[in-house]
Amino acid sequence: MTTLAPFTARSYDFSDHARARNWIGGRWCDPVAPAAPILDVPNPRWGRAMAQVALSGAADVARAIESAREAARGWRMTPLRDRAQVLYRTRELLLRHMDELAWLISHENGKLHPEAVAEVEKAIECLEYGCSLPHLAAGQSLEVSRGVTCEVVYEPLGVVAGVVPFNFPLMVPMWMLPQALAGGNTFILKPSERVPLTTMRLAAILAEAGLPPGVFSLVQGGREVVEALCDAPEISALGFVGSTAVARAVYARAAGSGKRALCLGGAKNHLLLVPDADPEVTIENIVASFTGCAGQRCMAASVLVAVGDVDHLIKRIAERAAAMRLGTDMGPVQSASATERLSRAIGDAERAGARVVVDGRVAGPTAGGYWVGPTILDRVDPSSPAGCEELFGPVLSIVRVPNLEAAIGVENRNRYGNAAAVYTTSGDVAQRVVTAASAGMCGVNVGVPVPREPFGFGGWNESCFGTGDLTGWDGFRFWTRPRKVTRKWALQRDATWMS
Ligand code: NAD
Repeated sequence: MTTLAPFTARSYDFSDHARARNWIGGRWCDPVAPAAPILDVPNPRWGRAMAQVALSGAADVARAIESAREAARGWRMTPLRDRAQVLYRTRELLLRHMDELAWLISHENGKLHPEAVAEVEKAIECLEYGCSLPHLAAGQSLEVSRGVTCEVVYEPLGVVAGVVPFNFPLMVPMWMLPQALAGGNTFILKPSERVPLTTMRLAAILAEAGLPPGVFSLVQGGREVVEALCDAPEISALGFVGSTAVARAVYARAAGSGKRALCLGGAKNHLLLVPDADPEVTIENIVASFTGCAGQRCMAASVLVAVGDVDHLIKRIAERAAAMRLGTDMGPVQSASATERLSRAIGDAERAGARVVVDGRVAGPTAGGYWVGPTILDRVDPSSPAGCEELFGPVLSIVRVPNLEAAIGVENRNRYGNAAAVYTTSGDVAQRVVTAASAGMCGVNVGVPVPREPFGFGGWNESCFGTGDLTGWDGFRFWTRPRKVTRKWALQRDATWMS
C-alpha cells in the first residue's frame, strides 16, 4: 500500500486526518507490536485530536534498518548527479504541493499559515543546497609529485538516522536529508510524535520523485525508537535536533555506541538593545522575533538586554506586542502542557520580582486551544529561571544593565549559544557585540539571525553537542567520509612516489 490520502483543509477550520504510519521499504506499515501505545495528535488551535499515532519500538527500527541496508548498495552506486536529480524533482513537487503542506503543518503544529508557508520555502532552500552538491562536491585532485596524483572523494557512511523536534516538522528534516541522501546514504527519520503527519507527506513526495524504496524510511515513535537508533551498530551517524537535556543524552548514547553524532539543543537567545537603535527597524523586528511561531523557534528572542535608557523603545515594543490579535497575528503554542508551563513561569517570575508589562495569561480565540499571548517581563534577574532557562514560548524577559560591557557579560554567562543579536546604528557597537557574543549565529539589527544557505546552521555551547554545523558544507561532511586516493601512472624506475 503506497498511496496516502492528501490533506484537504485550506483554512484553520478543524479537520480530521488519517492516522500516522511508518514508511519502510517503500510501503506504509504499522508498528510490529500489536499493542503499541497510541497517542492523539492534537490540532493546537482547537485542542482536539486530528489524528492518532502508534508508537513504534525497537522491532520497527530493526525492520527499517534491514530495508535501509538492502537499499544502500544500489543508492551508493548511483552517481551523485543522478541522486541530485531526485532532489530536483522533490523540489518541484514541494513547490506544487506548497499550499497543502503549509496547511498540514499549520494544523498539526499550530503555527499560522504564512509561517508554515515560510517553513516550506526554507525547506526548499535547504533542498536546493543538496541539488547543488554535484557542483560543490567535485572533490580535489593534485599532482603531488612527478606523475603522482592525490585525490579526495566523499564516500557515504551507509545507513544513517535523524531525530527531529516538533517545531519545524518539514524544515528541520530538510536540514539533514539533502546532504545525507546526495552523499549516498540511506536515511531513517524519526519525526516528533507530536507532529507525525507532515513527514508522511514528505515520504510520499520523495517516492514520487523517484527515490528507490528503502532509501528513506520513517519510524514514528518516541524515546524507545531514539534509543534503538542510538544503539544500532548498523547505523553509522545520527543527527538530532531538540532540547538540550535530550540532545546531551542522545549525543552520549550515540557516541557511546561508536557513531558519529551531531546533536543540536535548546537556546536562550539574547538581544542587546542600545539607545541609538533605529526605532523603525527595531520595534517590529524584536516583536516578530519573540512572537513568531508563538516563540517556539530555537532562534527566537528570549532575553532583551536593555542597555542604559531605552525606555522609549521598550514602551513601543510593549504597545506593539499588546496589540497583537491571537489567532491572526500569532498562533497557539503546541501543547496543553506548554500553556501550563508558560503560565507557571510567568507567575514565578512575577513572584520573584519581575514586572509583567504585557500579560499573555489570557483566554484564546478558540475554546479548548492552547493559547498564551505575547508576554513581556521587565527587570528580570538574569540568574532567575525567566532570565536563564529556555521557556520556549512568546515570553520576552527584559534584563536591565548600565552599559554595553555589562550586557555582553549577561549574554556570555548564559549556558546556551545559539543566537545573539544587537540593535544599534553604530558599527563600532555592532562589531564589539558580534566578536564578543558567545553564540554561533549573530545578528545586527536582525532578531532571528538564521543563516541563509549556503551558510551553515549551528550553535555553540549547550546548544550543540558534536562538531560543526548541521547544514551547508559541514552537513555534507558530517554525512560522508573522505577517501584519499594516491595514483602513480608514470612507471619509470627513477620516479618514486616521493620524487
Ligand atoms: P524534545 O527534546 O522534547 O524532542 C526532540 C526529539 O527527541 C523528538 O523526536 C522526541 O520524540 C525525542 N525525545 C524526546 N525525549 C526523548 C528522550 N528522553 N530520549 C530520546 N529521545 C527523546 O524537543 P521538542 O520539544 O520536540 O522541541 C523543542 C526543543 O527543540 C527546544 O528546546 C528547541 O530549542 C529545540 N530546537 C533546537 C533547534 C536547534 O537548531 N538548536 C532547532 C529546533 C528546535
